[in-house]
Amino acid sequence: MPARIAPLLLAWYDRHARELPWRGIRDPYRTWVSETMLQQTRVETVIGYYGRFLQRFPTVADLAAAPEDDVLKMWEGLGYYSRARNLHKGAKQVMADFGGAIPAAVEELRKISGVGPYTAGAIASIAYDQPVPAVDGNVIRVVSRLRGIRENVGIPSVRRLLEGEAAALVPAERPGDFNQAMMDLGATVCTPGTPACEKCPLQTLCDAFAAGDAEELPLLPRKNPPKVIDYGVCLIFSGSRVLMRQRTEAMLKGLWVFPMAEGKHTLRQLPAVVKKLTKLPVCDVQPAGEAKHVFTHQVWQMQLYTMRVPEAAEAPAGYRFVTIDEMDALAIPTAVKAAVQAVKTYTRVK
Ligand code: SF4
Repeated sequence: MPARIAPLLLAWYDRHARELPWRGIRDPYRTWVSETMLQQTRVETVIGYYGRFLQRFPTVADLAAAPEDDVLKMWEGLGYYSRARNLHKGAKQVMADFGGAIPAAVEELRKISGVGPYTAGAIASIAYDQPVPAVDGNVIRVVSRLRGIRENVGIPSVRRLLEGEAAALVPAERPGDFNQAMMDLGATVCTPGTPACEKCPLQTLCDAFAAGDAEELPLLPRKNPPKVIDYGVCLIFSGSRVLMRQRTEAMLKGLWVFPMAEGKHTLRQLPAVVKKLTKLPVCDVQPAGEAKHVFTHQVWQMQLYTMRVPEAAEAPAGYRFVTIDEMDALAIPTAVKAAVQAVKTYTRVK
């Protein structure tokens, strides 16, 4: 039965393929960039970023030669910034270890920073016509329904079984189109929750459709709810400049944020809290609103405060006082965009 799936799906793809800027191009760099951006991110969001990124870094050599700050700036707002850092590191590796040519074999691709099994499969099949699968969340959903896999896909042996089933479906002819067709089917027809089976080209071959339990598949591991963390975000002004810090933590590494004091604090407590955090003596602490940002594993519940230090104050190690124009040129995560607005409002009023 697997052999009957590819012709049906490819015929459907020929009629219904989504028109996307990274389609119809045989360029492993472009596939690598697009597939990296598409991880955990909606297609509509990626389209604009993809175009701007390739305009700025048209080749793997251009990306490898760029400073990391520039790469993060082009990624600003797209989230999951480790993808950008890994892509950049990977580009340098391609230049150093592969003479600037992105390899075609999955095993070689997997040696590149940030290239996991999915991205390696996508590059090998789409750019180099290798008959290998590219298994992401969409494909897991489609294959578990199609082949009736009714065990928790978080269990390694079940995952391996599923990957084996996915690999067996990939045809020797047009493997890249087949993988993209699976992605499109998962995104537009075999969707999470209630799939549109009435529109599906594979309905007659689908185990879950026959059994009537497609909505319940795949069986996913239970997720822990994200941890809620309170922060006091400290907008510390020295004249018209504001204090910022480039993060060194794994999460949002390399991006610029404002000093953040974990916990809930009263206005009276804040000067002592800020002194401990930055060594700076602040005064005139005022509330400046609140904001919330939901990450996959964390929720930041932020209270914003403006405060001042004397103009002669020096930025502590790891921090920098920046003007508004300088701030706008830095890569800043969406999580603190409300704080950026509060900074602009404060400088306009003062
Ligand atoms: Fe998914 Fe329904 Fe198609 Fe089966 S028939 S692959 S459940 S859309």
